[in-house]
Amino acid sequence: MLHRYTSHWLLPALAPPARAATIGPMTDKYKAAAEAREAALCEPCRGIQRNWRRAPGHAELVQTQNWKEERDGKPVTITRHRCDRCGSIWDYENDKNNQQAGWSLPTR
Ligand SMILES: [Zn+2]
Repeated sequence: MLHRYTSHWLLPALAPPARAATIGPMTDKYKAAAEAREAALCEPCRGIQRNWRRAPGHAELVQTQNWKEERDGKPVTITRHRCDRCGSIWDYENDKNNQQAGWSLPTR
């Protein structure tokens, strides 16, 4: 009898905690879109070093447009490219004050 009583009291502590809702529908959607972009990349696109200043693109990237955006009050040029092989869209941000600016897959 004593053994059963003890087990009963231990059970609540051993029950798993309620699952926290960490991923909402918006996050799922964003994640799915990001995964789809990655999955569409061709071999040369996969080889592009991202977010690194002056990293090269590859031969099949074709420039489509460019514009300026402000970073810390200074204008930087962003050049959009389209890959002829896989159709992926790449942005190259040329910011001489930021070593981590460079190639990225835009979400827009
Ligand atoms: Zn590509």
